[in-house]
Amino acid sequence: MDIRFLKGVGEKRARLFNKLGLFHVEELLAFYPRTYEDRTKTVPIRELRPGESACFRATVASPVRRARIRQGMELYKTKVFDETGELSLTFFNAPYVKNALICGETYVFYGKPGQNRELINPVFEVPPPGPAGPDQDPGGTVRSQGITGRILPVYRTTAGLTQGALRSSIRQALENCDPPETLPDGLRGQYFLCTARFALENIHFPQNLEMLNVARKRLVFEELLLLQLGLAARRGRMKKTPGPPFEAVDMGPFYKALPFVPTDAQREAIGDIQKDVATGCNRLIQGDVGCGKTVVAAAAAYLAFRNGYQTALMAPTGILAEQHARSLQTLFAPIGMRVGLVTGRDKKALDGIANGEIDLAVGTHALLSESVSFARLGLAITDEQHRFGVEQRQKLFEKGKPSDCGNRETQSPPLHPHRLVMSATPIPRTLARILYGDLDVTVMRGLPPGRTPVGTYVVDEGFRARVEGFVRKTVEAGGQVYIVCPVIGESEELDLQAADVYAEKIKADVYPDLRVGLLHGKIKPKERESVMRAFADGELQLLVATTVIEVGVDVPNATLMVVENAERFGLSQLHQLRGRVGRGGKASHCVLFMQNESARERLEVLRKEHDGYAVAEADLRLRGPGDFFGNRQHGLPEFKIADLSNDMDVLRASREAADALGKADPSLSLPGHAALKDAVEMLLRRIEGGD
Ligand code: ADP
Ligand code: MG
Repeated sequence: MDIRFLKGVGEKRARLFNKLGLFHVEELLAFYPRTYEDRTKTVPIRELRPGESACFRATVASPVRRARIRQGMELYKTKVFDETGELSLTFFNAPYVKNALICGETYVFYGKPGQNRELINPVFEVPPPGPAGPDQDPGGTVRSQGITGRILPVYRTTAGLTQGALRSSIRQALENCDPPETLPDGLRGQYFLCTARFALENIHFPQNLEMLNVARKRLVFEELLLLQLGLAARRGRMKKTPGPPFEAVDMGPFYKALPFVPTDAQREAIGDIQKDVATGCNRLIQGDVGCGKTVVAAAAAYLAFRNGYQTALMAPTGILAEQHARSLQTLFAPIGMRVGLVTGRDKKALDGIANGEIDLAVGTHALLSESVSFARLGLAITDEQHRFGVEQRQKLFEKGKPSDCGNRETQSPPLHPHRLVMSATPIPRTLARILYGDLDVTVMRGLPPGRTPVGTYVVDEGFRARVEGFVRKTVEAGGQVYIVCPVIGESEELDLQAADVYAEKIKADVYPDLRVGLLHGKIKPKERESVMRAFADGELQLLVATTVIEVGVDVPNATLMVVENAERFGLSQLHQLRGRVGRGGKASHCVLFMQNESARERLEVLRKEHDGYAVAEADLRLRGPGDFFGNRQHGLPEFKIADLSNDMDVLRASREAADALGKADPSLSLPGHAALKDAVEMLLRRIEGGD
């Protein structure tokens, strides 16, 4: 049902709703409050605190006075009191107050007091058990219920759309719409979950805090369950479009071409893929930075090549794509495999891909563009997959279908390539299911031999001068240094080292004689690439950067990383950052500056641990799961209501439920599961960016 069917929602207001992404009444119901105002308890005036919203009961001490400040701007003022104190009230442009607040009468007020025992534009009403007649608010809507004595929802909104308007529309939506019950009765009984109607009514207009919690738990459970069922369904569907079966291949020539002996982890991962491609490969290779995932991708491409198919390898940045193309070209040239690079509209590469001359196309998301069409795509690989959305991954897979521009007559059957994704973000097992539920997973442990772990130090400001000396010594010895800062631009918290300000400062004050580059998210991609390239080529000695370098190039000559305000980062993120150094043979170091001694224990984990999974588990234990879901590191849509830093218990329960459902009714085709199935399919369309 279109929201314009709601009373009071005309074209103009509908457009404001649309701005918030709300078009249908059903979407309005799922537009959960951002927070709540608890107006259930009143406090004495004496206990009001500046800046803290509260409810209090008070008597009007004097008739409301009107004071005009400027044309078009009127103030209405009065004083109120209770047994404990008094307070002045000021209303802007609110003539109705003159008649609504009567001297000597008592009302309930709600608002946020300022510094001088003054309250601006409070809402108020006659307290119960007084007459419960409708009252007017400044927006002019008639309220059917009281504005105090309740927990009121506060929504994310947009200019021109008041909370009052949102509330009244949502209340109407609740009255006019019967939300489908997605959770079967048995399941609700088993996990003590309320009905959909109860949950929606109480998430928007909770009768009390307990009911709000009951409502929230049900909606969180539902959201997490749907996501897990959706990913499982996706995985099932992928298995039905398996990719061309590959024959077993002698890997001897490939291994011989490698400049080193593959590690056990690499051999095992390659073994998993060899098994997969006999039927259908849909696998995530997860392994710490530097563990050697590129070799695994190369082996898979070799399997495709020997079977007469092309491979696409997609990387998140142009530099990374170029780097892959270069190293793979060197590896494959003796074998007779041809590698092409696609970062833009290079005609020669596009032709080579279309006519089958190129066996392995390496590129950025440019590979997804319309103009790229493969002759025989048999394998699609996504590197650093967390930088891409599920939607983009899906698009790359669809490149296997014969392009319908041009040779329509060839009538070749649709082809689904095998799918391989690679990620360096270690995810604790408890969370992997919800992030990667649609994939088979291989975890690569350990690093190639001969690496010395990056020496890691946790220091405070007292070490500033010594660290600066260390930076200088490193550069003088021909090395390069990363300096990482947590924020972009000047922030309100001045003690945070802002990357751009700080870069200027150290350029001018500390290292005026050094070549310093700057890299952060606000710098345009083109310029970012050229800075990164200058650093990779050794033209820059120092790179001051935000976390954009997290996924970056291999610069083996960079042997020192200094992280400012390290307490601001999650441990896993710091571990990823640290993986940028220690890539060559030289001993490497990572210095973590902390502004706050209380962060020491957490940061010390990094000094002791060099295994990404151990770090990730510690991170989950110490900081909760937020960091793994923050920054959209996974390509999944944001949660509407779940917050895993508080909802790990509900996650576990929902996982158990998803497993049980997966066993009992994997296709959700039992009659009692119809609404659940609908909801899962709707979510999948949203994830995959379909219609
Ligand atoms: P990541 O898993 O982060 O993608 P890479 O594939 O980039 O790691 O490998 C990191 C470095 O390790 C590269 O310089 C690569 O040449 C080297 N490397 C990979 N496998 C081995 C091995 N088996 N023995 C020695 N060095 C290796
Ligand atoms: Mg890699």
